[in-house]
Amino acid sequence: MNRPVRVHPSLTESRLSVYWTDTAASPHQAPRLSTSADADLVIVGGGYTGLWCAIQALEDEPGRRVTVLEADSCGDGASSRNGGFCHASLTHGLENGLRHWPNEIETLTALGRANLDGVEETLVRHGIDASFERTGELVVATEPWQLAGLERGSEIADRFGYTSTVLHSAEVRRLLDSPTYLGGLVVPEDVAMVDPARLCWGLRHIAENLGATIHEGSRVSRLERSGKGLVLTTAEASVRCDKVIVATNAYRSPVRRARKYSIPVYDHVLMTEPLSSGQMASIGWQGRQGCGDSGQQFHYYRLTDDNRILWGGYDATYHWSSRIDPSLDDRPETHNKLAHHFFETFPQLEGLTFTHRWGGPIATTTRFTAAWGIGSRGDVAWVGGYTGLGIGASRFGARVALDLVDGRDTERTALSMVQKPPIPFPPEPLRSFGVSVTKRAIQRQDRRGGRQGAWLSLLNRFGVGFSS
Ligand SMILES: Cc1cc2nc3c(=O)[nH]c(=O)nc-3n(C[C@H](O)[C@H](O)[C@H](O)COP(=O)(O)OP(=O)(O)OC[C@H]3O[C@@H](n4cnc5c(N)ncnc54)[C@H](O)[C@@H]3O)c2cc1C
Repeated sequence: MNRPVRVHPSLTESRLSVYWTDTAASPHQAPRLSTSADADLVIVGGGYTGLWCAIQALEDEPGRRVTVLEADSCGDGASSRNGGFCHASLTHGLENGLRHWPNEIETLTALGRANLDGVEETLVRHGIDASFERTGELVVATEPWQLAGLERGSEIADRFGYTSTVLHSAEVRRLLDSPTYLGGLVVPEDVAMVDPARLCWGLRHIAENLGATIHEGSRVSRLERSGKGLVLTTAEASVRCDKVIVATNAYRSPVRRARKYSIPVYDHVLMTEPLSSGQMASIGWQGRQGCGDSGQQFHYYRLTDDNRILWGGYDATYHWSSRIDPSLDDRPETHNKLAHHFFETFPQLEGLTFTHRWGGPIATTTRFTAAWGIGSRGDVAWVGGYTGLGIGASRFGARVALDLVDGRDTERTALSMVQKPPIPFPPEPLRSFGVSVTKRAIQRQDRRGGRQGAWLSLLNRFGVGFSS
């Protein structure tokens, strides 16, 4: 029997609700697909990836008949419930990129930077206010063994033309004050903070303005071939089309072959009430950087426009058989743990309360970056699995999926990251077993000063891992 969890006092008034969407500004619901229709391109899933597919398809070819079929509301998946760290990296960080694609990392970094510029440029061109704020990033060490990682991170960042700075404890505390900080690494470029929901709604607005047809409440239950075309079926009707892109990320893909490459991992988040000017002064945070600590299990945190703190991460959770369900958004043990860690980090904020708590599914692959695929006839492509860095990368993911389905050979499709799929996850029960052994090994690594045990070393040799 599960023991009831004692709720941290800061959480007693919190709502189980995504802060970003808890506003009257949410757009009207698009109509369900209720009559049969035709399209040139159908996109399954209305998160960032699906919406970027629609936008870029219509920018490439105005007048193309593009339909997006979304099971719930656009953004209801990860896209309107994330932390809002919009990163240029397409490889879940430089270190991971170097590990997997040492020969392509220069190209991948350049493509990632151009992609982030493309996100910003699109928002500006269409007048979308998603609170896009290029704040850069602050990574902190809270254990002595993490300091070497900051030095290594700085060396790598500098090799790729960033202007990173390693800070001693007193210097980092002048920037953002926590007694737990032993050092920090500031990388001022290539990371922006966004309001995730406003970004998603903005992308939906752009796609509709360019001529896309969006149906919400329209879950695709079947994707099949019919003559020369394809038919997608929802509860009430169907769409016949020439090409399909599947952008369902963590959710069960309508394409069976895609399913083994990614699994859903739940990540949980807290949002505080707005900080008073006195509370802000007690922590500093002048640069408003997106922050993260550098354990294997890490927290990420940032400010909102009205100076709340979003605090999330640490306890990524996989549920048996890749289950995704709204009931999993609430995880008292994780939310309590996060609250404890928050006040250990910022004891000067004792008394501050959390107004919102939530969770959501991140799709991870064994190499922590997106995977793409294309069906044998070249008219069905899929993409997903960005792990915890999908806000920026989803635009690139969509671009590549369009290249694939439109039969374009580009610098992007030639990348081995695109050509070669990640090592797949095994089926259940091995999948759950593997994840739980790996999670325990990661916890041990953090406890043992960063030393990898035999299991993680073995996975490392095969280029396989588990992260959020
Ligand atoms: C708590 C949390 C924090 C995160 N923090 C960050 C962060 O700070 N920075 C970052 O870069 N990334 C972050 N991420 C990851 C990021 O949010 C995702 O990588 C990104 O949103 C993926 O977008 P997507 O469109 O591919 O997937 P989703 O947004 O999940 O969209 C998939 C859509 O497909 C729909 N769908 C599923 N099945 C069907 C079907 N059969 N028919 C029709 N529609 C279907 C779903 O309803 C959903 O809307 C975070 C994720 C979570 C959950």
